[in-house]
Amino acid sequence: MGDGEGLVARNLVKRFSGNRPPAVDGISLSVSRGEVLSIVGPNGAGKSTLIQMLLGLLVPDSGSIRLFGVDVTRHRRKIAHRINYASTDLSLPYSLTVRENLDVFALVYDLPDPRRAVDRILETFSLVPLARIRVGKLSTGQIARLGIAKALLSSPDILFLDEPTATLDPEAAQEIRILLQEHVRHSCLGLVYTSHNMREVERLSDRILLIESGKMVAEGTADELCRKFESSDLESVFLKSMSEARQHRNGSEHDEKGSGCE
Ligand code: ADP
Ligand code: MG
Repeated sequence: MGDGEGLVARNLVKRFSGNRPPAVDGISLSVSRGEVLSIVGPNGAGKSTLIQMLLGLLVPDSGSIRLFGVDVTRHRRKIAHRINYASTDLSLPYSLTVRENLDVFALVYDLPDPRRAVDRILETFSLVPLARIRVGKLSTGQIARLGIAKALLSSPDILFLDEPTATLDPEAAQEIRILLQEHVRHSCLGLVYTSHNMREVERLSDRILLIESGKMVAEGTADELCRKFESSDLESVFLKSMSEARQHRNGSEHDEKGSGCE
């Protein structure tokens, strides 16, 4: 893939503290428009740190991130309008209605025709019946839907979602998954996404990046990963690959310690 076509990150490293290993340790990835890349790994693996760097919110210690050919770290303003982000950690103003929330973001995003854009997104996300309801009165699933609607209001080329379905019941999670699939297909949206739900990852992703302790363990389609780890589903790929990665890491730590004593 050429640099101009999407997001290309190379050898990203981020260390938060000198006496701990890097949170992200040499990860490379790419995603094009119309493609879904899932980043999968245990808690603390570095997924959110990686996403914050890709968004240009955290500066990597080393490595490069190019988005449609532009260096994200140096020229974030130039490409900020082409990306957006949603997470269940982000809270929306609770005392405003669904429509008021979207109206505010339409202004923030400086959309040319904010009213039309809000109408359209309310329609797409089946939020019309909720338009006059205050966010504080919505269910967790409805808030998640609104969060993603808000992020798609700016028509980004690439959307980053950090555990968007983590707090949702299976029905609400499925609703979100179907909406995302439609958007990827119809708007040619590139999606970078994290989740601990392996069935969801299997259904949604074109490619999956497995990470552990900040390092890439494997990358490929669900089928490729199942073959590589001789597993029948992604859940067992996850368990096997993480256990192998930990064994490998512990082995190298032993070797390092051993050589230090000689
Ligand atoms: P994940 O999203 O995969 O659960 P994170 O990226 O949140 O993982 O965290 C990776 C590692 O970096 C963890 O050890 C976490 O404690 C550490 N970390 C994350 N953010 C910070 C921060 N702002 N300051 C210090 N350490 C951090
Ligand atoms: Mg996280």
